[in-house]
Amino acid sequence: AHLTDLKWSKAACRFCGTGCSIMVATKAGRVVATHGDAEAEVNRGLNCVKGYFLSKIMYGKDRLTTPLLRKKNGKFDKDGDFEPVSWDEAFDIMAEKWKATLKAKGPKAVGMFGSGQWTVWEGYAASKLMKAGFRSNNIDPNARHCMASAVVGFIRAFGIDEPMGCYDDFENADAFVLWGSNMAEMHPILWTRIADRRLSHPHVKVAVLSTFEHRSFDLADIPGVFVPQTDLIIANYIANHIIQSGAVNEEFVSNHVNFRKGAQDIGYGLRPENPLEAAAANAGSGDSEPMSLEEFAEFVKPYTLDFAAEKSGVSKERLQQIAELYADPDTKVMSLWTMGVNQHTRGVWMNNLIYNIHLLTGKIAQPGNSPFSLTGQPSACGTAREVGTFAHRLPADLVVSNPEHRATAEKIWKLPAGTVPEWIGAHAVLQNRKLKDGEINCYWVQVNNNMQAAPNMMEEGLPGYRNPENFIVVSDAYPTVTAEAADLVLPTAMWVEKEGAYGNAERRTQFWHQLVDAPEGAMSDLWQLVEFSKRFTTDEVWPPELLADNPDYKGKTLYEVLFENGNVNAFPNSERAEDYENRESDEFGFYIQKGLFEEYAQFGRGHGHDLAYFDTYHQVRGLRWPVVDGKETRWRYNGKYDPYVKEGAAFDFYGKPDGKAVAFALPFEPPAESPDEEYPFWLSTGRVLEHWHSGSMTQRVPELYKAVPDALCYMHPDDAEALGLRRGAEVRIKSRRGEILTRVETRGRNKPPKGLIFVPWFDARQLINKVTLDATDPLSKQTDFKKCAVRVEAV
Ligand code: SF4
Repeated sequence: AHLTDLKWSKAACRFCGTGCSIMVATKAGRVVATHGDAEAEVNRGLNCVKGYFLSKIMYGKDRLTTPLLRKKNGKFDKDGDFEPVSWDEAFDIMAEKWKATLKAKGPKAVGMFGSGQWTVWEGYAASKLMKAGFRSNNIDPNARHCMASAVVGFIRAFGIDEPMGCYDDFENADAFVLWGSNMAEMHPILWTRIADRRLSHPHVKVAVLSTFEHRSFDLADIPGVFVPQTDLIIANYIANHIIQSGAVNEEFVSNHVNFRKGAQDIGYGLRPENPLEAAAANAGSGDSEPMSLEEFAEFVKPYTLDFAAEKSGVSKERLQQIAELYADPDTKVMSLWTMGVNQHTRGVWMNNLIYNIHLLTGKIAQPGNSPFSLTGQPSACGTAREVGTFAHRLPADLVVSNPEHRATAEKIWKLPAGTVPEWIGAHAVLQNRKLKDGEINCYWVQVNNNMQAAPNMMEEGLPGYRNPENFIVVSDAYPTVTAEAADLVLPTAMWVEKEGAYGNAERRTQFWHQLVDAPEGAMSDLWQLVEFSKRFTTDEVWPPELLADNPDYKGKTLYEVLFENGNVNAFPNSERAEDYENRESDEFGFYIQKGLFEEYAQFGRGHGHDLAYFDTYHQVRGLRWPVVDGKETRWRYNGKYDPYVKEGAAFDFYGKPDGKAVAFALPFEPPAESPDEEYPFWLSTGRVLEHWHSGSMTQRVPELYKAVPDALCYMHPDDAEALGLRRGAEVRIKSRRGEILTRVETRGRNKPPKGLIFVPWFDARQLINKVTLDATDPLSKQTDFKKCAVRVEAV
């Protein structure tokens, strides 16, 4: 293409939670090129290999362009084959099934599963449609598998969600400690910022803790490979070291920290109906008793250097070096973590244990001193968390179980009191079980490939999808493992085929305009949600008592009460940028994206979650909330930077009633499953740089596919030799739940220790989640994908 013919526009990257800003070139209605946005603070002109090939993700040959319904003899049949149908026929059968289920069993029998890949207003519309329209809180994002533990950790320690720091910490820190995170592959652009800092400042140190060696170890001054689950011990040892070496910042602790016993929480969530769920997830630290610093010191005392080294397998020297980084008052430390900590049967505890270290030393909420929970998905923060698509949440940290919070939502939504139900909906793993058990019968999946992503899929996923009582709808741009298991597949517009907004890991909200049309027939998730709402009247889905008390709502469609409500339809389409008129959402007759965003923003403005005005975000490269008087906030809880800190205070953890953060005393607890004679290896799963999650987009980019075509079983060469396996040999990986065939890799980017194998999950032909264990953290309900016991056999 001639360069001068190209039109360049800004957008946020479609993939990871780093949130790179991308420049997108369009020509003749197609995206033809992308590059990193030089004006962007996040990525400074760079993007990773996935970002370089964004221009190709929409143009796979098998793009879905028509709804597909399983049929036999011209009628819907769960055992039939997929046949193309019109959107009308698709919505007709879908509405018929939903109405029958709602009538027979009520709102608990319908459910929805989305993700942090929804745009902000898509997630908001989905949550509103489910929680207020269908009066069902059975909506959860796949963020449940990604950072639910981080959320509960934040709420328990600080009373409100999301990091206090930001990416500016990278240029201010003297040390970086990675807790079970392979940033070199999973957050590569942030890794360039760490590498830049480390290589240009000789005093800077990088410590990398993981259960196996990976690419991030290339930059590690202090590498540490630990036995799975012993991160709980290492973190407690560091807290003990800080106390024993006199490195507690006593002034900070006495002014800003409370200590609590935190271990009363019950055991594993293997099939949980945990009564503490609401307390833990919603009320933060309400489930634990106070303690003193002295009692806390006694609690961590057994976690000595000798004990930690013996249990974790990390040498005493290295453990001490890491502890010293935190203990040294002159070293500013950034701790970073993602799935290694969050996907853990004690993920919430691990989050809290890392905060403990920062709270004891006062190394928090200041430039360079930053416990930083990274996110996996592009809008894990912006959509899943801030919008409140979790089964227990409402926007801006409100929760469904709190009557005042529900009343706030009903007021903003202009709905009758009592519309939003108080019960906590089913989380991701529980949804699968309820589908299997026939308790949820109608289920809609958008923006994710849960059949490939969810744990123990053959026993807990597929049976629910194929349960004859159930009707499963999957919206996606491409055929996926999940779509193949569905009854109805809806073809979906993606990325810049629609106007969108994402919120990244540093609280930065970023917008993009629609830049090209979707293929004829493919419609956005937002359009699908809103169109579907037109098929229902309040009389069909709301209880008679609610309508008897509120006759004005009687006979209205859900579309009218949820979207034509005076807020969402408040802005005319003429406010859309001129170039982007006449797109699919124009069918609604108003600027729906703006209306939804401005309605949603009402939840957070004045409450510490202030978002800027809609139009502002189209001008800038994102802003970090709270945005007050037009100014973003880089470090929360710090009086120098955060407008919500009370006047004169140096720090104020204002999410807690007394302004103090909470450190929790939390012990080691063994994993849910460990290797034994029959299943002698640990299995850890994860991602690779070249592929996004289940690979449904990146596997369709020829360059990325060729770079990493297949998942492999990374294993130690001695283990391979002991099993008589050569590199490249076919093997069977077997657990108590299932098995897959793959090939052995004894070299390359991942170098597991003896006794552990690593298998990525992007490859639809090798579904490693047939093997994984669906044990969840009892507080966050997040699955532990990082450890279970398997056998490896030659084929
Ligand atoms: Fe940036 Fe992540 Fe996109 Fe790579 S995948 S360009 S690191 S946002």
